[in-house]
Amino acid sequence: MKVERIPTLSDNYTYLIIDEATNEAAVVDAPEADPVVRRVDELGVRVTHVLSTHHHWDHSGANPELAERYGAPVLGHSSDSDRIPAFSQGLEEGDRVRIGELEARVVFIPAHTSGHIAYVFPDAAFTGDCLFAGGCGRLFEGDPGMMYAALNEKLAALPDATRVYCGHEYTQSNLEFAVTLEPGNAAVQSKLEAVRARRAGAAADWHDATDAEMTIPSTIGEEKATNPFMRVDSPELIASVQKAAPGTGTDGVSILGAVRSLKDSF
Ligand code: ZN
Ligand code: FE
Repeated sequence: MKVERIPTLSDNYTYLIIDEATNEAAVVDAPEADPVVRRVDELGVRVTHVLSTHHHWDHSGANPELAERYGAPVLGHSSDSDRIPAFSQGLEEGDRVRIGELEARVVFIPAHTSGHIAYVFPDAAFTGDCLFAGGCGRLFEGDPGMMYAALNEKLAALPDATRVYCGHEYTQSNLEFAVTLEPGNAAVQSKLEAVRARRAGAAADWHDATDAEMTIPSTIGEEKATNPFMRVDSPELIASVQKAAPGTGTDGVSILGAVRSLKDSF
């Protein structure tokens, strides 16, 4: 399995998942078609699926153009049949999607939106705007309990080595926030330094971004060590949250909700 990271809009990631055995490929979360078409042409792969993690325009806007160009079906959660552009095939938790000889499992993780899913391969997960490197998506159509279940029950259960491919290059600002809650977490400190160094060389236009400036993929293990939304059991983080938001309960859902509110105004 090969994953091509295509920078789109101002900080979005669109991915091409390529099965090298058959040269078949799937596009994940494309808001604009041109950069995708260029990369597909360069690589000479055959696009067989257009996959959406959720309905937001910055993840699905190019679905109609790509579906038509490649004659490919558009897949997303069944509940989003009216909201995902060019939607043609509904998915549910546990469904399988085959890309050539590769197989993804669908994991239902509603919280950022009510129909959000992840595409999970044996060693890589495409998490859209649910799990970011160092953070998580805003709770537009869900609540802290749903995000807790998505991150700390479903995604946390994946093997630590699973690579995490998320929807945006938000890692630096996420970790700048994380370090305020856990200044004593050496893993956060060292990852933040590494990410700052990578991002210091960033192209003026994200469309021109090279692999060297991209901080994605992360891994599930790295997220467990650095992501405040997956560290709701950390005594240091709990103490920071209770100082910033007095009266917050110490259970994971309450802590996650408070961390989300603090991040919203960071
Ligand atoms: Zn979104
Ligand atoms: Fe987004």
